[in-house]
Amino acid sequence: MANTDHTGLKRCSKCKANKPTTEFHKDSSCKDGLCSRCKLCNCAHAKAWRVIDPIRTAEKQKASYQKHRPARLVHNKEHRQDNLYAIRAAERERERLRTPEMAHTAYMRRREKALAKNAEWARNNPERVKATAQKWISENIERSRAIKRKSANKFPEKNAEKTRRRVALKRHATPAWADKKKVLDVYKQAQILTLETGVVHHVDHVVPLKHSLVQGLHCEANLQILRHDVNESKGNRYWPDMP
Ligand SMILES: [Zn+2]
Repeated sequence: MANTDHTGLKRCSKCKANKPTTEFHKDSSCKDGLCSRCKLCNCAHAKAWRVIDPIRTAEKQKASYQKHRPARLVHNKEHRQDNLYAIRAAERERERLRTPEMAHTAYMRRREKALAKNAEWARNNPERVKATAQKWISENIERSRAIKRKSANKFPEKNAEKTRRRVALKRHATPAWADKKKVLDVYKQAQILTLETGVVHHVDHVVPLKHSLVQGLHCEANLQILRHDVNESKGNRYWPDMP
């Protein structure tokens, strides 16, 4: 070996110290199969590069990971089989030393990751989130009402504002010629249907009251009774002769 002297020591090209060959990383591109810099110098060099060019370092690490992955998987499996007893003992020992705090920290880390991933998915699939929520509401009417009530009790000012807004909207959308009795009759009819069929019926504005393109009227001609699930899936997105 060219770089190893008679004592079996190898001279580091960087710090110039003579060290045992075990203090050098393997490098198949070198003549003696070992890196010219010692492990310590090599690590310092790599650390410096991580600071100077983190992107390049990350790319190189990723490429190296991918390159060695199949071989490493095989190696890991073989290593586990060969050292099963010791590995299991070490696992048991780790488990024994694991405090509840450590377990909790690990759990919270996993949880945060999962939540972030879910939030990301929800941001990218708003239509599916909405459809799922609507499906759940239509299948859990009582529970969804309880949740709404709870939220209304928790934020009374929000709830009051929402109710006032809805009333104001109806008031502004109610023409002078609207027959209030006929309007009330429609609401009464919806309640009767709900009681008789056991399926909740809503009064819906055919042309929505609240939309950026149209303003429907709160009058008998613009009201229709819909099953709650039909109404909830309709939202304010459709009306006759819509553009
Ligand atoms: Zn060195």
